[in-house]
Amino acid sequence: MTATASSSNPVHIIGAGLAGSEAAWQVAEAGVPVTLHEMRPVRMTEAHRTDSLAELVCSNSFRSDDAANNAVGLLHAEMRRLGSLIMRAADANQVPAGGALAVDRDGFSAAVTRALQDHPLIEIERGEIAGLPPAAWDNVIVATGPLTSAPLADAIRALTDENALAFFDAIAPIVHKDSIDMSVAWFQSRYDKSGPGGTGADYINCPMTKEQYDAFVDALLAGEKTDFREWEANTPYFDGCLPIEVMAARGRETLRYGPMKPVGLTNPNDPTVKPYAVVQLRQDNKLGTLYNMVGFQTKLKYGPQQQIFRTIPGLESAEFARLGGLHRNTFLNSPKLLDSQLRLRAQPRLRFAGQMTGCEGYVESASIGLIAGLYAAADIRAQVLSPPPPTSALGALLGHITGGHIETIEPGARSFQPMNINFGLFPPLATPPTKKPDGTRLRGNEKTVAKKQAISARALSDLDHWIADNLRVRAAA
Ligand SMILES: Cc1cc2nc3c(=O)[nH]c(=O)nc-3n(C[C@H](O)[C@H](O)[C@H](O)COP(=O)(O)OP(=O)(O)OC[C@H]3O[C@@H](n4cnc5c(N)ncnc54)[C@H](O)[C@@H]3O)c2cc1C
Repeated sequence: MTATASSSNPVHIIGAGLAGSEAAWQVAEAGVPVTLHEMRPVRMTEAHRTDSLAELVCSNSFRSDDAANNAVGLLHAEMRRLGSLIMRAADANQVPAGGALAVDRDGFSAAVTRALQDHPLIEIERGEIAGLPPAAWDNVIVATGPLTSAPLADAIRALTDENALAFFDAIAPIVHKDSIDMSVAWFQSRYDKSGPGGTGADYINCPMTKEQYDAFVDALLAGEKTDFREWEANTPYFDGCLPIEVMAARGRETLRYGPMKPVGLTNPNDPTVKPYAVVQLRQDNKLGTLYNMVGFQTKLKYGPQQQIFRTIPGLESAEFARLGGLHRNTFLNSPKLLDSQLRLRAQPRLRFAGQMTGCEGYVESASIGLIAGLYAAADIRAQVLSPPPPTSALGALLGHITGGHIETIEPGARSFQPMNINFGLFPPLATPPTKKPDGTRLRGNEKTVAKKQAISARALSDLDHWIADNLRVRAAA
């Protein structure tokens, strides 16, 4: 259902997380009124702690900011070109994090909250939408995220005639910096990379010998885990966010090749001895008083967590600002249920955005909020917005969600899984680069690097044309 250009009805956006906040901003910036419904603090989720909009529930990292070589860095760049509020607030609240864009979580959320509160076309209503939105709301964006409250999730499930797939992610502990023994640990970014806001020495590193590592893996495997309720027992994990003990169970060396890899790091306290494994902690707040344990999401019980993590050299006296934990995820079988503009086929007044659509991650969720906002505003203004180019990061991600997945038309068990943006989602280059600018042939890894850079350059160029063709018209209308 599409509202007319003369409609004075607002776009109703449910959920003011990463996606809903960005969507609200985009709709309002297009000159269309918004009512933004957020249930916190009236009703909290299992992971959110505050009443701030766009709260980051776990890591404070937006991952790589390298637009030429990394797909999420490219998505950052595209969102900035589209006037993203989430990127503006992230850039303004950056903390040092090597090659990554990490933020002061409170400063970031406060900036988003302020911008939305101050916007003359946005009204924020605090309260749970506990079921399908009223029929009178003819242009709705549902952006209630992985922890969508049960009554709304049930109503959507009933409408789609599917079992909304639930699975589990886990969050990592946060440590008070002044409780870390810096005579054992040291500051260094892997390969001394300084990145957008870093110094090359942004992570705290805790070294382990082989004996310590082996004992640590044994303790992880033996440690008491949070019990699953019966219906949760067969719920799968998303591979990008495996609990540390689940990784450890996959093989003795898995952690040494994953979050605990020792490469690119030299211990200044003992420079001649190469650590067998390294635990890294990344700055979590602007003040630099809190550090999160990178990749240490866990479903261990609180007691065993403290006991086991305090066996890590340098963390013997660690004080935890937050311990790790488990959470549920909820997302739609989007390729089947949503049209190319993210509208529910069964009820097109409902458009979906964020992690519920089957993307994964803060940045990806916000980017789908961004495009959902542009589509919703175009509907209200009775304009046609052509889809973003499939060669752009935004278009590639949207394509994956709304149709790119191979099982879209096939029967059988649903295989659609949440996805971070990655170069695998982009259409191949018509003519992959074979030579360097000086005419010599590219070899080995040089080819991969050149290919990524060519895909990125194509993405930004195509997106610029799309913006010029679509959004300048919108601005003038
Ligand atoms: C515990 C946990 C850890 C995570 N760790 C990471 C990480 O480290 N890095 C990363 O990139 N991503 C992480 N994710 C994924 C992350 O949630 C998403 O990437 C991102 O926050 C999703 O954005 P969203 O806008 O879709 O949902 P959210 O940001 O969760 O926003 C949804 C909002 O909707 C509100 N809401 C829910 N139901 C209702 C209702 N019925 N009525 C009104 N309001 C409602 C919620 O209160 C919330 O504010 C994690 C997710 C969880 C749950």
